[in-house]
Amino acid sequence: MYLASLTWKKLEESISEETIGLIPLGSVEQHGPLGPLGTDYMIPEELAKRIEAAYPDRVLLVPTMPYGVCPYHTSFPGTIDMGLEVLAEVMTRIAMGLMNAGIKKIIFLNGHGGNGPSLDKAALAVYNRGGIAAIVDWWVLAGQLNSTWAGGHGAGQETSVMMAIKPDLVHMKDFFPAEIHHLSDTLQNTHISTVFFGKGSVRVIRNVKDVTSNGAYGGTDVPEKANAPWGKEIIEGVSAYLVNFTEEFLKVSHIYRSDEA
Ligand SMILES: [Zn+2]
Repeated sequence: MYLASLTWKKLEESISEETIGLIPLGSVEQHGPLGPLGTDYMIPEELAKRIEAAYPDRVLLVPTMPYGVCPYHTSFPGTIDMGLEVLAEVMTRIAMGLMNAGIKKIIFLNGHGGNGPSLDKAALAVYNRGGIAAIVDWWVLAGQLNSTWAGGHGAGQETSVMMAIKPDLVHMKDFFPAEIHHLSDTLQNTHISTVFFGKGSVRVIRNVKDVTSNGAYGGTDVPEKANAPWGKEIIEGVSAYLVNFTEEFLKVSHIYRSDEA
């Protein structure tokens, strides 16, 4: 069921303790020369539709929150940054609105790394009010499910998924190679904010344009290798996992709390 299409009365009749509120969110930000600015919310929205389709009576799909936290992308035109505090407040209010309707369980289906701290804050607000919230970072999940599905920003992984779901929005002909500015000769960027050294990596935050001149970067995951069949494989694999996860999350009925009588 889709929140915006229901009347309040139909919603009231449809909600039970089991119902999951599913909130897709992302970011409107530059995605290199190939991908649309809405990449980060369009992919979670597509995944969320597939989850809702699997459990139409038990999952309440909420309109997508398109904007997120992306201050490091603003050197490129079209990027809209909500800031950490604003996003935390907006996501908390959306969650509280669902809880007011009787929802106890929420899934934040996230498409953008910068949203993490704001979502943690919103999820804790849900918990402190007696509910529980799960946060899914789909692109991280993709790399865990299959190492060949891992990817970077505006690189092969994301661009391929966009080619699979909205092919008209990807512009392969506009590709031009990026000039990559690693932190130093020995501290090489494997992602925009990840620098590899020895056997491990550390996060180093810079303005995106200072790392990659075209805005896209994913180390070995290069945008030129993007193709629709690869994207289809990724989105189908991730959505199959999420449908199974949702089934288990629907079953969660009692969560231990140390202060319970
Ligand atoms: Zn992205």
